[in-house]
Amino acid sequence: MEQYIVSARKYRPATFDQVVGQHALASTLKNAIATDRLAHAYLFCGSRGVGKTSCARIFAKSINCLNPGKDGEACNECASCRAFNDGNSMNIIELDAASHNGIEDIKSLIEQVMVPPTLGKYRVFIIDEVHMLSTAAFNAFLKTLEEPPSYVIFILATTEKHKIIPTILSRCQIYDFNRITVPDIVAHLQKVAENEGIEVETAALNVIARQADGAMRDALSIFDQVAASSRGKITYQSTIENLNVLDTGYYDRLLDAFIETDPTKALLIFHEVRRKGFDAQFFLNGIAQYMRDLMLAQSPATSKLLDEPADIVADMQKQAARVEPKFLYRAMALCNDADLNYRQSSNKQLLVELTLIRIAQLLSPSPIESGRGEGPLLPIAKSAAPQATPAPTPAPPVATPQPAAAAPQPARPAATPAATPAAAPAATPRAAYTPGTATPRTGGTAMRVGSLSMSGHRANKAEGEAATQLAEPVTPEGVAAAWQAYIDEHPTDYALTRIMLAFKPELVENRYQLALDVANSTLLGASMDQIIAFMRAKLRNDLFTFTLQTIEGELPPQFWNERRVFDHMLEHSPRFATFCRDLDLKLL
Ligand SMILES: [Zn+2]
Repeated sequence: MEQYIVSARKYRPATFDQVVGQHALASTLKNAIATDRLAHAYLFCGSRGVGKTSCARIFAKSINCLNPGKDGEACNECASCRAFNDGNSMNIIELDAASHNGIEDIKSLIEQVMVPPTLGKYRVFIIDEVHMLSTAAFNAFLKTLEEPPSYVIFILATTEKHKIIPTILSRCQIYDFNRITVPDIVAHLQKVAENEGIEVETAALNVIARQADGAMRDALSIFDQVAASSRGKITYQSTIENLNVLDTGYYDRLLDAFIETDPTKALLIFHEVRRKGFDAQFFLNGIAQYMRDLMLAQSPATSKLLDEPADIVADMQKQAARVEPKFLYRAMALCNDADLNYRQSSNKQLLVELTLIRIAQLLSPSPIESGRGEGPLLPIAKSAAPQATPAPTPAPPVATPQPAAAAPQPARPAATPAATPAAAPAATPRAAYTPGTATPRTGGTAMRVGSLSMSGHRANKAEGEAATQLAEPVTPEGVAAAWQAYIDEHPTDYALTRIMLAFKPELVENRYQLALDVANSTLLGASMDQIIAFMRAKLRNDLFTFTLQTIEGELPPQFWNERRVFDHMLEHSPRFATFCRDLDLKLL
């Protein structure tokens, strides 16, 4: 009977070309070998399971190959290659510093360094998790690293590059390994499945790849686990059951419920999920993650961050196009609030239900309180003709002279999406709405409706209210004071006020602007309306507004937080790094 070998070992790459997801790096290494430009020490950095040790082993084999190819790959046939592949080569010595980090371990390694190779040209010493070496072991090793015999090559590997002291960094050629993307993992698993004669659904491999979180080794272990219980065919259904993953179909249906402003439907979905044995907080975080993915899918620039195969991204883009960004910001903020309160809540089920109801009301034109101190939302008057374009978000909660109670509570439109065939799905629940008698604005003409842009709050003011508009002069000092007042009056809204303490709107070319990275901009964007309404009241100026600029990638240094500054100093100042290491200083 054939012995069972786990896939992570069976499919360990034997050549650089077989290494998954590290093409650029592998070809640089191959090039170095082909042109015989070898360094004496290499540092491989990257998270676990991305191929550092595999590359180190292939490197060791390739530089010792007796018949290397022109491209630098090993032949896998000569005596040296065979010894490597059988695990009998004397030219490769591995030390796992995670478990062997003492001075004795390093001393016996240094003794080995003195022995020249018998077959092949080089002896390669791989020290895994090198940052775990004790200080004494480190110091003993440094001398050898400085002046190794000509036949010795060190390959140091680490998951925590920032813990490597500058004296080591400066002596090594550094290679940074990428996390392996979901599409790369899926493609590789596909090959493994073919080889093993297992039938697979691509959707199942997507689930496995996502669970593996960028590590090929984990992906293969999970694959084995699922294959073991799938009897020759891995389906999407068997995979999500085996891995206890919630079907994304639930989130898609939940979005339908939100768009239809149907809290009942949302609650029923929640109870279905509970019955399947999923934790309420898990579900809550799942919704937040789903909304975040939709937000990224809304722009081609951020779609790239999704790390999903193209067909899934296309599906998400379709879903994302059904809602406004503002809805996603708010839904994420509500999920985030619920998550923060989850542990303290004595009725966790109610907390989640309430959150679902609030999200389901975000797109509602009715003046129901949507929590978070928002005022009643004003109904938006529409012309009688049904609109095919998505209806705009309800007006922001600016202070208005209209009595809240007078605003009508519109019944949900009786028409189901099927009854309005021409309308876009997002527009259906709202398109049929007409204002009640209590609203002063009547008549058949279309009313001015709110602008959708973040900076467009001014446009939300109907012209009829101009008489009561406050327009006192606004100064930068006043803006800063109003900003601070918001922070002071919302002491429990930590997530938001933390950002507000670190950043504030600056006057640029006569406009107040706030530049934030994607994550912070999302969080703050969700509360823009409240903040602007609050500041307008403080400043006694109904026209005041500021714009939110989302900066992709790295923020300029003036926007860095403490962590970023600290990391920068560690990276660029060897003396500061040594100082922190000697005193064991950490930023908590
Ligand atoms: Zn060979």
